[in-house]
Amino acid sequence: MRVLAVASEAVPLVKTGGLADVVGALPGALAAEGIAVTTLLPGYPAVLGAIDRAEETWRLDALPGGPARILRGRAGALDLAVLDAPALFDRPGNPYLGSDRTDWPDNGIRFAALAAAASRLAVQGAGFEVVHAHDWQAGLTGAYLRHGGASRPVLFTVHNLAFQGAFPATLFPQLGLPDAAFALAGVEFYGGVGFLKAGLWYADAISTVSPTYAAEITTPEGGMGLDGLLAGRADVLHGILNGLDTAEWDPARDPHLEARFDADDTAPRALNRAALCRAFALAPREGAPVFGFVGRFTWQKGVDLVLDALPALLDAGGVLALLGSGEEWLEARAAEAARLHAGRVGFAMRFDERLARLIYGGADGVLVPSRFEPCGLTQLCALRYGAVPIVARTGGLADTVVDANEMALRQGWGTGVVFSPASAAMLAAALRRAAALFADAPTWRRIQANALRTDVSWARSAARYAALLRALARR
Ligand code: ADP
Repeated sequence: MRVLAVASEAVPLVKTGGLADVVGALPGALAAEGIAVTTLLPGYPAVLGAIDRAEETWRLDALPGGPARILRGRAGALDLAVLDAPALFDRPGNPYLGSDRTDWPDNGIRFAALAAAASRLAVQGAGFEVVHAHDWQAGLTGAYLRHGGASRPVLFTVHNLAFQGAFPATLFPQLGLPDAAFALAGVEFYGGVGFLKAGLWYADAISTVSPTYAAEITTPEGGMGLDGLLAGRADVLHGILNGLDTAEWDPARDPHLEARFDADDTAPRALNRAALCRAFALAPREGAPVFGFVGRFTWQKGVDLVLDALPALLDAGGVLALLGSGEEWLEARAAEAARLHAGRVGFAMRFDERLARLIYGGADGVLVPSRFEPCGLTQLCALRYGAVPIVARTGGLADTVVDANEMALRQGWGTGVVFSPASAAMLAAALRRAAALFADAPTWRRIQANALRTDVSWARSAARYAALLRALARR
């Protein structure tokens, strides 16, 4: 069976977050289920530079933003179709932001072009039975298929409902869709054009990246203005957990680590811990934990909660490595904390794969105090690398981490520390609890062993995606 995936990023070519990890890993996982995936990506310089033996397949005229070409080729394990439209995508760096760190003003046209190209490739390309569109950047794919009179079943996957691709109504005439599409039963969203809304509306099936998030987004608290639509489509809404590419994320083979290790022998982890402390200029106290945080600096991720709970972390003797960038006020607060608490708080304000892996493979605990979290990959990376995740009970965090309370530990479960709600006070309490557990070395070793034993692979979820895609193809 053949599937056309459409997305704006994919590991190892271009990544701003978990979307890229999933789009990059799912084709390999689905191949094991007998499903061949071709992935359509925008022709950013990093993508065009990576494809071997690019062969032009065809020209596309009358695309939003002007004519373009689709190139076919491979990059590593990915079978790619690349939308070569230099006026739209020949821009280095972050795929969505210009050098002033604000959205490119033509993002609506850029990703409308991606979706329109996907709809044509789905029909004219060889043998695609189902289209799998990811997030708002691919959100118009179903609309172009439906209004182009072509039929291919579409699975639309939401990785984060907060990124809605909402544009003013003035964009609509440039999309090349019929007037009738600008309607509640179409792409219209609160008076403008909603790419994510359109993705949800036109899809034959919808999935999101954890069962708990699938339930949360049908409620007014979690639905971000789309709960009505999602509740109305609950019969086709599925929650399928993300996995990790466990060959790519393997502490026994990771070249980024100072020392490689596995679940049977975690002793070399101490070398990573020492390297992590050197990298962040941390001087941990004997018997007290090294904590880490990896992620986008946004309200969603609760970076402010980490900084508000810092007194509790420091009182408990802990030290903290912070890695990430994003909103300036959070970056400024983190920089200030590192200055005030030199030796106990370190901050690297960038995207850095090596440091991220050093945190997963060297820290004792990884903080994930997200206010909402569709799935979250950081806690999966932490589990896989033996860092105990300390997470808010929301979305995929609730589905993937088992709180190490008395009962759970007695039953041989317990992989992390789970707190609720996502507030500074509850995070502070969780950090005190984590430090107390850490001080009890045999208990901590059990929690760490449970974490390392957790199945974070794609195996189970790939089977669920495969079943869903096959059911769509049979329609
Ligand atoms: P998001 O909401 O950003 O997609 P996820 O937890 O789903 O969050 O995925 C984040 C991914 O990006 C993980 O693989 C994480 O390790 C990685 N990541 C996030 N920030 C950084 C950073 N500053 N440097 C390196 N990797 C990062």
